[in-house]
Amino acid sequence: MSTPWEAVIGLEVHAELATRTKIFCGCPTTFGQPPNSQVCPVCAGMPGALPVLNAEAVRMAALAGMALGGIVADRSRFDRKNYFYPDLPKGYQISQLAMPIVSGGHLDLPLEEGPKRIRLIRIHLEEDAGKLVHRGSSGLAGATHSLVDLNRAGVPLIEIVSAPDLANAEEARLYLQELRLVLLTLGVNDGRLEEGSLRCDANVSVRPAGTLALGTRVEIKNLNSFKFLQKAIESEIQRQIRRIEAGEPIVQETRLWQEDKGTTVSMRSKEDAADYRYFPDPDLPDVVLDDAWRAAVSKGLPELPAARRERGVAAGLSRSEAHQLAGDPALWHLLETVVGHGTPLRDAARWLLGEGLGCLADAGLDAEAVLDRAGGFARLIELVRAKRLATPSFRKLVRDVLVHGAEPEALAHERGLWLEPDDGSSARIVDEVLRSLPDQVAQWRSGKHQVRGFLVGQVLRALKGKGDPATVGPLVDRWLETPTAD
Ligand SMILES: [Zn+2]
Repeated sequence: MSTPWEAVIGLEVHAELATRTKIFCGCPTTFGQPPNSQVCPVCAGMPGALPVLNAEAVRMAALAGMALGGIVADRSRFDRKNYFYPDLPKGYQISQLAMPIVSGGHLDLPLEEGPKRIRLIRIHLEEDAGKLVHRGSSGLAGATHSLVDLNRAGVPLIEIVSAPDLANAEEARLYLQELRLVLLTLGVNDGRLEEGSLRCDANVSVRPAGTLALGTRVEIKNLNSFKFLQKAIESEIQRQIRRIEAGEPIVQETRLWQEDKGTTVSMRSKEDAADYRYFPDPDLPDVVLDDAWRAAVSKGLPELPAARRERGVAAGLSRSEAHQLAGDPALWHLLETVVGHGTPLRDAARWLLGEGLGCLADAGLDAEAVLDRAGGFARLIELVRAKRLATPSFRKLVRDVLVHGAEPEALAHERGLWLEPDDGSSARIVDEVLRSLPDQVAQWRSGKHQVRGFLVGQVLRALKGKGDPATVGPLVDRWLETPTAD
């Protein structure tokens, strides 16, 4: 029997902070601008240019640290990480080594069987490097020349380093999804893996199951989608197991995921911190934060996804409904706005998921675009709750209310869908319809209760769209259950 192996995985996530300007200069951070259009002497690494720290980047890093349960340091420090690469004009990256802004913390994975806590080691601030564009081929190999775009150089990043607490590729994917959602909810990152504003490296090793010593770890870079992250880790775990079982050593190295080959390939031997000759950056003072500052920042903490899901489930939503709503901060904001108009959370959520989302998708709008229609949507729900509108009528009106901002009451009158308070006319029609169907009524009385659906349908038809199964059903039941003289 072969040895059972277990994987040990930790993730390093780089998240670009959603500041308007770069971390040490006033250049804008807008994505997709013409190359080298957002560059100044500071981020281009000109001699004599001095960095000035962006306070908003510090606030966002601290906010992320607080949301993730870490300790925001009284004093943190910037270091120079020295290496040469053409996208790094200074010859060093300003980062944090010994004194990061946040230490510790955790992220709870929302597993089906209950949350699993993944510890965080640290969160530190640093600047992004520029971007190389290779010409003459799709990658570096075979390129005839390479161009440098420094628009991204100096964009603020936080690097979030997890402990090696992840046990498989699935957990790693969930971790990145949940972390992305927390950062999106905080408004500190836009979550766009495809644009590179959220990037992930994975450290993977394997060991005999149940043992404690860590095996030699391999770092996998360039995991720019949830799918690639999961596939790359799965493939790397299998590669390491095959090597160990064949008696070959695991080399500590950095590997790249290659989607077309379905495997990781060696990129370079892994460097250690000592290789970078880190030292404190003499151009930047220490970042000193006090309790009053931290208290002010913590006031900006929104309700986090885990708490939202919990509240949704407590209000009667299914787990998947709660996940869907809390999984989209804009959608949750719309939900909260509807609830703010007095609709119970459960009703607001059900109608939003059941009808609202479809309307938005058809109109090509996101939830943020219809926030000012939330009041109309809430009143439309209230009309159904108050039985002024039949459930099917809601579906006929929701698009005009949510997408076009129509007034629900006026629209219901205009379309002839408004229901007057029941004056007994529904009961009268139930009576008429059921008396006209003696055979089906007899079937029901002989125990064939499936005929009830047909009877309710006939009454709704007679009510010409003004009836509601929720009110007609009980009237039909009452009629059927009342013993008759004949
Ligand atoms: Zn600049």
